[in-house]
Amino acid sequence: GSTIGILGGGQLGRMLALAAANMGYRIHIFAPEAELPAGDVAAQVTRAAFDDFDALDAFAGQIDVATFEFENIDVASVRHLATKVAVQPGAAALEIAQDRLSEKAFVHELGGATAPYRAVDSLPELVMALDALGTPALLKTRRMGYDGKGQVRINADSEAEAAWAAIGGQSCILEGFVQFDGEFSVLLARGQDGDTRVYDVPHNRHDGGILATSQVPAPADIAAHAPEAMALARRVAERLDYVGLLTLEFFATENGPVFNEMAPRVHNSGHWTIEGARVSQFENHIRAVCGLPLGNPALTAPSVRMTNLLGDAVHDWATLLADPNAHLHLYGKSEVKTGRKMGHVTWL
Ligand code: ATP
Ligand code: MG
Ligand code: MG
Repeated sequence: GSTIGILGGGQLGRMLALAAANMGYRIHIFAPEAELPAGDVAAQVTRAAFDDFDALDAFAGQIDVATFEFENIDVASVRHLATKVAVQPGAAALEIAQDRLSEKAFVHELGGATAPYRAVDSLPELVMALDALGTPALLKTRRMGYDGKGQVRINADSEAEAAWAAIGGQSCILEGFVQFDGEFSVLLARGQDGDTRVYDVPHNRHDGGILATSQVPAPADIAAHAPEAMALARRVAERLDYVGLLTLEFFATENGPVFNEMAPRVHNSGHWTIEGARVSQFENHIRAVCGLPLGNPALTAPSVRMTNLLGDAVHDWATLLADPNAHLHLYGKSEVKTGRKMGHVTWL
């Protein structure tokens, strides 16, 4: 009867909670939002701001171990929580992954390739960076961006001022545009004993900066980059003494795999593992956090495809499920917004 505390209450927390429940764990969600997809399936919910240290202290007293499903939590809060209860993965992984500049520098140090980039903190710096990297380029906020939010494409030098205004003067990174054949991600689980398991890499297609579909196995020209990318992911996990599920996103290019970003958590591009792998990313994350042996990431079917159900699209569940190999997941969100992740479908 151990209790796992999860910071964040979105769909990732919901799927973690469902996996944990199968193994007899209680889940206690800590998150500020009124609507919590994870709250519906958790034994307990604390609705409080992540910087409410009194609430964090009370939370720590009611759980045996903590993890997070959301990466934009103030590291100070996670560090504070870690003085009271074990937090897996640690604050160091979170801190690096929260900042696009530090995660790229970190990966470079480990021998990984990234898009060419420059730190940009002002319009004159943006102009200089564009001069160095050329166009097209992407201006991204260093922090807090997700689903393509907080980034603008710059197609010509003349667009610099508008791009800087659109981002709103936050600390940024300018990235050269990577010509890629496709995108894929490495989903790696690492246990407390340092044992690792890696899933077959999904081929990820994005639409408007939002993940649309993940397909496994990836086409051969993309899968060819997997061994090098997996080796980098192992170095990242080892350097961070990482415990849990770690995700690295890559571009497949003619010069090999180019690292895009990492997430110190379970990931949308791993949702297919619920039915498509012997042991899902969610179960392996729970196993790792709880100090248990990791499970088999092997495929359960020759081909697995996951499609996100986004808020603005109209779906007919009966038609979707007319295919007997389709699995429907809905996250219980009531507020429908354009581009909001409402659920997903996995076909085996
Ligand atoms: P996520 O929801 O995955 O966290 P995000 O908002 O953090 O997304 P990125 O992953 O940086 O954003 O970018 C979103 C998508 O935009 C990428 O998956 C890729 O398709 C495209 N993209 C980002 N950076 C580059 C680049 N330097 N060159 C080419 N395409 C890019
Ligand atoms: Mg991201
Ligand atoms: Mg991304």
